[in-house]
Amino acid sequence: MKTPPDEPLQSRRTFVRTMTLGAAVLGSSGAGGLAAEVAELTKGGERRPGVVLMGLGLYSRGELAPAFEHTKLCRLAGVITGDRDKGLKWSRYLGFPERNIWSYESMHEIAGNPEVDIVYVVTPNGLHAEHTVKAALAGKHVICEKPMANTVAECDAMLAACAKSNVQLSIGYRLHYDPFHIELDRLAREKDFGSLTRLSGEHSWTFRSRAWRIEKSLSGGGPLMDVGIYVIQAACRAAMAQPVAITARVLPKTRPELFNEVEETIEWTMEFPGGVTCEASSSYNRDANNFRAEGARGWIRFDPAYAYRGIEVETSRGRLNYPAVPQQALHMDDFSTCVLTGRKTPVSGLMGRDHLRVIEAIYKSAAEGGRRMALA
Ligand code: NAD
Repeated sequence: MKTPPDEPLQSRRTFVRTMTLGAAVLGSSGAGGLAAEVAELTKGGERRPGVVLMGLGLYSRGELAPAFEHTKLCRLAGVITGDRDKGLKWSRYLGFPERNIWSYESMHEIAGNPEVDIVYVVTPNGLHAEHTVKAALAGKHVICEKPMANTVAECDAMLAACAKSNVQLSIGYRLHYDPFHIELDRLAREKDFGSLTRLSGEHSWTFRSRAWRIEKSLSGGGPLMDVGIYVIQAACRAAMAQPVAITARVLPKTRPELFNEVEETIEWTMEFPGGVTCEASSSYNRDANNFRAEGARGWIRFDPAYAYRGIEVETSRGRLNYPAVPQQALHMDDFSTCVLTGRKTPVSGLMGRDHLRVIEAIYKSAAEGGRRMALA
C-alpha cells in the first residue's frame, strides 16, 4: 500500500471533479432529498455542525479529512489523536483551532464544548466500543467506522450509551450514499428483474505486513471483519432482509506465520427469507471486489463494487453510468441533518449490530465445521 503524505491532501483537480459530480447527485435527491434539507438548514445562517475526527490513520487522512472540502453542511472542528504534533500539523493545514486538539485521555473535555456536535470514531475495530461510549458520555453524536465493534455485546453497550445520552449513532456505511448501490435498492424494491434471489460477492485484498488488522483483540477477526462485511451489507440490501441462516468455512492458510490470530480466507453462504441465497467470500491473499444479484428477468454485476470511486456496473440491460460522488461527504452531511432535525440516520447502530450478528454466526459456523446456524 502506498504511504500517503503526512497532511491530508487531495489534488485540486480531483476535488473540483468530485464536487461537481457530488452536487449533481445532491441535486437529483439521490441521497433522499438531502440537497433540499441542506438548503433549508443553512438558509438562516445557522452554525454548521462540527465534526471531530478520532484516529488520524490512513482512512482519516486519505478520505475523511479531504471529504470536508465537499461537505455542504458540516465542518471539521478538531481532532482526537495520540500524536499531538500530528494534531498541530492538521490544525495548521485544515484551519481548525489548536484548542480543538484532544488526546484519547483528554477527550472527555469535549463535553459541553459548543464547537463539537459529532465525534467520528476511526480507530481500530477493537477500540470502537470504548471510544463510542466515551463520545456518547461526553454528550456528542457519533459516527463509528465499520465494523461497528468486535462483538454484538459491544454493539449493545454502544447502543445503550448512545440511548442514555440521547445521541444518535451512525456507522460508516458510505455505500448507502452511492448511486450504483442506490440503484440496487431500487431494483430490489421495484423487482425490475424479478425478486433478486441469487446473490454472490467477494471482497478481498492482499495483506502484506503485520498490523493491527491481523491482531485479533484490535481487529475482531480477519478479512471478514475488515472487508467481507461489505458483501453482507450489499446482500442485505439486495434481499431487503437479514439472513435467516448461515453456513461457513475457513480455508487452509497459505501464510500461517502472518495470519496466526485471524482467518486468511473465509467462505460463507447466507440464506434469506423466500429462498434467496448469497455465496460470499473474503480473503487476505488475493484481490477481488465484486457483487452480483440475479432475478428471473435479469441481473446486475458490480466490479469493482465497494470502491470509494470508480465503481463499475453491468446489467442484463446494459452498462450503468452514474457520476462519482463524494460518498463520505454525503454521509457526514446526511448525519448532520439528522442531528439538526432529529430524523433517524438510515445507517444506524442497529444496522451495524445486525451485521455483527451475522459475522458472529459466520465465525461460529466455521468453528463448528460448517454447521448451519439459524438466526432467530
Ligand atoms: P489505521 O491503522 O491507518 O489508523 C488507525 C488509527 O487509530 C491511527 O491513527 C492509530 O494511531 C490510532 N490508534 C489509536 N489507538 C490505537 C491502538 N491501540 N493501536 C493501533 N492504532 C491505534 O487504520 P484505518 O485504515 O484508518 O482504519 C481505521 C478504522 O476505519 C477501522 O475500523 C477500519 O475498518 C475503518 N475503515 C473504514 C473504511 C471505509 O471505507 N468505511 C476504509 C478504511 C478503514
